Amino acid sequence: MTETIRLAHHVGGRAVDGAMTFSQASPSNPDDLVVEGPEADAALVAEAVANARSAVDALDQVGIEARADALSRIGRTLLANADRLALLATRETGKTINDAKGEVVRAARTFDFFAGEALRNIGERFASTRPGAMVEVDYAPVGVVAAITPWNFPFAIPAWKIAPAIAFGNAVVWKPSEIASASADAFRAILAEAGLPVGTVEMLLGAGGAGAALTGADGVDAISFTGSVATGNRVVRAAAEKGVRAQMEMGGVNGLIILDDANLDVAVDCAINGAYFNAGQRCTATSRIIITDGIADRFIAAFIERAKALKIGDPRDPQTQIGSLAAFKQKTLIASQVEQAEAAGFKPLIGGSADARPHAFFAPTLFDNAAPASLLGQEEIFGPVAGIFRVRDFEEAMTVLNNNRYGLSSSICTRSLVHAEQFKRRARTGMRMVNMPTAGADYHAPFGGVGISSFGPREQGRAARTFYTTLHTTYQLAV
Ligand code: NAD
Repeated sequence: MTETIRLAHHVGGRAVDGAMTFSQASPSNPDDLVVEGPEADAALVAEAVANARSAVDALDQVGIEARADALSRIGRTLLANADRLALLATRETGKTINDAKGEVVRAARTFDFFAGEALRNIGERFASTRPGAMVEVDYAPVGVVAAITPWNFPFAIPAWKIAPAIAFGNAVVWKPSEIASASADAFRAILAEAGLPVGTVEMLLGAGGAGAALTGADGVDAISFTGSVATGNRVVRAAAEKGVRAQMEMGGVNGLIILDDANLDVAVDCAINGAYFNAGQRCTATSRIIITDGIADRFIAAFIERAKALKIGDPRDPQTQIGSLAAFKQKTLIASQVEQAEAAGFKPLIGGSADARPHAFFAPTLFDNAAPASLLGQEEIFGPVAGIFRVRDFEEAMTVLNNNRYGLSSSICTRSLVHAEQFKRRARTGMRMVNMPTAGADYHAPFGGVGISSFGPREQGRAARTFYTTLHTTYQLAV
């Protein structure tokens, strides 16, 4: 048994203790109490925001090269500590060791990418329509950014907020999820050693109350949030009241279309990966498999065979493909959604409530004949649960795909160039995949959705500059 980690907030370069208000037991081994932590209050939030404000000025003084160097150092340190960090995330969130390592590497690459971007924050200069004058456009830091993150990618998601924030000269007050706060704290310790000014990344712990205190605080210039739609909507209202810039990345009910002409192996790979890897806990996970009649039965038979062969179990074992859900409360939530679907008459072909698993493990579940208007067609189930939506043809598949208020990711498996092109034009999602799973995105390309899935400018890649900078236009006449 490993010891329980007792966390403190980190504000102004020092640890700030508080009464332990939350805890996380290992979801794959409930006897292991991984972590306990305190909840930040409004006074501590104010202190953290003030420190971050001073750090914005200090970051300007240190300049772009020193910031780029620090970001590169963070990337290297993450890589050097990948095994240790991955093991901690595995213990804390039930994520498999391979997925956790992959995520740390991705976080490291994100820091490397933004080390380069720190040096490429290039403005523009125009001739003016007014003779003798000129126009300059520059991109200045926004200031203090509040980053509020979920538990499903405890390194990668904070990395894609913190790295661009620092690259463009901002300081961050970070409130990680209470479900992944030990991983977050290990990451924070690496950030703290990078040689950046004190206050560049302040870390406040706690659950929703701490997040609400941060989004309601004076002195925050921008809020970058990733999490559920319900919470994101609260955060965006708080941002609007304060008049601060906001960026929300939220959930998805992502559809994978499989047409009769698809390569069956590729389609099964895409569906298994999208629906079940990371125990279905990816915002881009596949929950709707929209399939034409001519291939449906062959697909289902092959899919079930593959699903039954998946190695589910101890997330520390490198052979394990699927670990547990991240928390016991997530299991309760997903079980109740699955029971609701069953009570509405939908039948699981595999998994479902009859297939009980220990601890926070949840059986990969597949419903047949799911209806577009039902819970399975409309609501995010953040676990290894997918529905088969049978359709006549491509046209009906597109109608079912777009019949959803979310709009994060979608995919099509087909060998038809015409249908692939039509899909790319008509899929109402921010991310589109062709013969690839709905989940899985590169760190150097923009990421985000449409509909209720996202709000505000895109994250990641060069697109991140839009959110993390303020554009100024200056007219000048030399007289
Ligand atoms: P969540 O909304 O419950 O929590 C997210 C964060 O918000 C946590 O840090 C939480 O403590 C905080 N929070 C809770 N209430 C708050 C409030 N009133 N004010 C401010 N902050 C508050 O989400 P979760 O369960 O941690 O994560 C799962 C969700 O995240 C899923 O819906 C998933 O689709 C989504 N997600 C989206 C993306 C994306 O990029 N689109 C990526 C990963 C996860």
